[in-house]
Amino acid sequence: MKITIDNTMEIGGHKIEIDLDPKLSRDNNGGLNELYQNKIHINPDRPSDMLDLALIHEVAHSINVVYCQNNLSEDEIRGMAEGMLQFIRSYLGIEFCWENIPISK
Ligand SMILES: [Zn+2]
Repeated sequence: MKITIDNTMEIGGHKIEIDLDPKLSRDNNGGLNELYQNKIHINPDRPSDMLDLALIHEVAHSINVVYCQNNLSEDEIRGMAEGMLQFIRSYLGIEFCWENIPISK
């Protein structure tokens, strides 16, 4: 089942905007979280599982800052994101539909 995701979400009262940013391909980067600008950018030039993973990963960074005093390491964020991707895709049978996410200018 595909779930259409919105281009804004709230974490701890912070309204975070999501977009697809082709510039991330230059640096071979899956995602970028501008934590204190409330912006998450996702590289669109990757397979759909990698887009979903990048969003979960960047959201985990925001959760880490807002709720965990930024105590989680990059490896812990990476592991949690992979586990959540498997839970969402394999157990719940959900993939994200990106059609409402704008392309960054
Ligand atoms: Zn990261």
